[in-house]
Amino acid sequence: MKIVLWDTRQLDVSKDFAGGYGVGQYASGGGYQGQIVRWFYKRDHRPTALTFAYLTSIFRQLGHEVHFGEDQIVAGGDVYVFNPSLITLNLELAAIREVIRTQPAARILIVGILALTLPAAFAELPVTLVQGEPEQLLWKLDEVLKQQSGAVAVGSIQDLDALPFPDWDLFAPRKFRIGYDFTQFPTGLIQQSRGCTFTCNYCPYIVVENKTRFRSPESVVDEMRRGIQQYGFRSFKFRDPLFGLDRKRVLRLAELIGQLPRKVQFSIESRIDLLKPETLAVLSEVGLASITVGIESPDEATLRHYKRAPVNDDKQRQFIETCRRLGIRTVAGFMIGFPEDTAQSIRRVLRYARLVNPTFANFNIVTPYPGTEFYKQVVQDIADFDVTKYNVYTPVMKYQHLTAAEVSAWHARGFTKFYNRWDWLKAHGHLVWPALKWLGFGYRPATELPVAVVPQPATIALPVMTSADVSDDRKVA
Ligand code: SF4
Repeated sequence: MKIVLWDTRQLDVSKDFAGGYGVGQYASGGGYQGQIVRWFYKRDHRPTALTFAYLTSIFRQLGHEVHFGEDQIVAGGDVYVFNPSLITLNLELAAIREVIRTQPAARILIVGILALTLPAAFAELPVTLVQGEPEQLLWKLDEVLKQQSGAVAVGSIQDLDALPFPDWDLFAPRKFRIGYDFTQFPTGLIQQSRGCTFTCNYCPYIVVENKTRFRSPESVVDEMRRGIQQYGFRSFKFRDPLFGLDRKRVLRLAELIGQLPRKVQFSIESRIDLLKPETLAVLSEVGLASITVGIESPDEATLRHYKRAPVNDDKQRQFIETCRRLGIRTVAGFMIGFPEDTAQSIRRVLRYARLVNPTFANFNIVTPYPGTEFYKQVVQDIADFDVTKYNVYTPVMKYQHLTAAEVSAWHARGFTKFYNRWDWLKAHGHLVWPALKWLGFGYRPATELPVAVVPQPATIALPVMTSADVSDDRKVA
């Protein structure tokens, strides 16, 4: 069969983020300072969603011909596959209608989280919704194609090592660039685990399931090796929602990454309380360049109200400082625009971001993702149900004490006040622009750094994360 994958880069979408709902990029506000921040984000060329690279590999393994169309309909397909995000949904719906009009005999599959949580968006169309992990098509393509329209539940993959490596051939991978994480490009996406066992009720990553599955470190590093050789990747962004839950695996992975034929950079996403200084030191030694963490709010009551386990203030500051000294960038998320927010509570978040002082602060406007517990909790407070506005930079809630325009203004102010500071440049300038090291930025005596002890194969006997280590979240649950 000729299978066509359709995708778009319009609206600055990054479909891999927000659990597959996708996000946009910071768009405006804050005058010329805001424009500088926007310019910084715009230099990137984000990789195509990992899902499409997996599907390419899977369909080829099944013996099919795979084509890719970016904002264009490749003619003559037997099957067209769409992976819509919220903000690009209208573009996808228009392209689907065009396929129906011009390729009437073709089958249309919708994959990704919208197929599960927003089936109504496709109700009038002769399409099949693949509800579950799209990579299940490796085993269930025939079963899915048997059903002309409606939904087919395919479930999730239990053994991630059974998947073939993602195939990036069709997507011009040598252009991929994520500048806030790395100084070396191109950048590949990779995953060593899926799922998260924590309970933050606004989080789209736990909509499908609330457990974690892992790949073997050997398989992950084999994939990295192939990415280096075949696509020239010099950096890898791990797309695990929660990297580091199993410390033993992390250390084994670090050991194997250290044996790659060339030094690469990589970035991860995790919780501050999962990564100890010694683990950070080991990862830094083998190329960890950037860590994304959610700090969200300094207000413990707000976090607990939305079932997020707080991390204490000292730990957060120490973590950022340890990373900085190890030469690891930190990308911290902060949330503003809860229905009950006031000018004062938002000011506290913005001030706390400056106090903690990560390399990059991402101020996200609270977004009620369909399918989350948070959505049900605040449904009465949602002002705008047009999901194409859910880009994390647009206010869509009813606010008890603020207008939407005020929330937008605070949001823009968050970015400009955060970056326009000497303290930020002094602490992180050398990480963002390495040449600044020559001017003395970022120097610290080596004795202050945690010691990296990379374990040898025969001596890895460090404990797996215990329930005591994550007890905060269990209490909240
Ligand atoms: S720690 Fe919370 S926000 Fe992060 S992936 Fe898990 S549930 Fe989502």
